[in-house]
Amino acid sequence: MIAAAPLSLADALRAIADDPFATVIAGGTDLMVQINAGRRPVTSLVSLRNVAELKGWSTESGNLRIGAGCSYSELERPDFAAIMPALAQAARTVGSPQIRNAGTIGGNLATASPAGDTLPVLVALDAQLEIASSSATRSIAISDFLVGPKQTDLRQGELIVAISVPVLRGAQEFLKVGTRNAMVISVASVAVLADLDAQGVRIGLGTVGPTVLRGARAEAWTRSNIDWDSNRVVGNLDEFVALVRSDSHPIDDHRSTKRYRSHAIGICARRALQRVFP
Ligand SMILES: Cc1cc2nc3c(=O)[nH]c(=O)nc-3n(C[C@H](O)[C@H](O)[C@H](O)COP(=O)(O)OP(=O)(O)OC[C@H]3O[C@@H](n4cnc5c(N)ncnc54)[C@H](O)[C@@H]3O)c2cc1C
Repeated sequence: MIAAAPLSLADALRAIADDPFATVIAGGTDLMVQINAGRRPVTSLVSLRNVAELKGWSTESGNLRIGAGCSYSELERPDFAAIMPALAQAARTVGSPQIRNAGTIGGNLATASPAGDTLPVLVALDAQLEIASSSATRSIAISDFLVGPKQTDLRQGELIVAISVPVLRGAQEFLKVGTRNAMVISVASVAVLADLDAQGVRIGLGTVGPTVLRGARAEAWTRSNIDWDSNRVVGNLDEFVALVRSDSHPIDDHRSTKRYRSHAIGICARRALQRVFP
């Protein structure tokens, strides 16, 4: 098997332009599972591991820019958690330490599983993705990028370079439910982020639809049921839970049932909102 390990983004993009059959590998935590199971035939690999432009994160003018090659271990660290606590919490729940050292946020996006743990936070924040090919760059909203279960708008020869999200003032929470406490893919997950400046709440719902969903009805409820002076929920939380459930579209599959997912997403969202507005 031919393998390339470019050091720069330009070299990585050239490598995948020159070889349309090349498979891109970042941490390999999704890809190797597919290869080992014989579900993804591979003739050549382009490794993103050493590509300088995909590494690290930075803040500028109220925005956070995260390189697609950032690992979960990097996102868990206290300096990152101080800026984006919900994404740090989501990163902390992914797999084992080994998976978190290898797995990247770019790989989570490209895999586009409705159970991808970073995605509810990124959807709640209306993340913008920076995509590049050897001939062009473009920016796309995450809601347009995630087009279906494990389906994205990524085209031949393109790489995800970085993710941009606004830095919000306010508490944040990410919660997930799985079939056990750790090392588990979620059967329901939720991100609840307060935006004190906009006096609103942003909600992302994972594993309860074909892609990660925005809790639009539940968000609308928070606008008139939170006292923004005292930071307290003043409305009836049962109404909030019912709206979260109506925002979600769970299905039965090998991991769980539609009924349990609908129950779990309501409980998680209620708990997350109570933690954000204690
Ligand atoms: C034991 C185990 C436990 C896991 N637990 C969880 C969990 O709890 N939560 C969770 O969300 N996920 C989990 N996963 C899945 C996986 O770890 C994540 O989805 C991870 O983010 C994938 O990133 P990666 O860098 O390893 O991607 P890779 O496996 O290297 O690549 C995955 C796909 O993305 C493409 N790709 C990667 N980077 C880019 C890029 N920059 N641009 C374009 N395409 C790209 C690859 O070509 C490939 O198609 C688990 C996996 C394992 C094996």
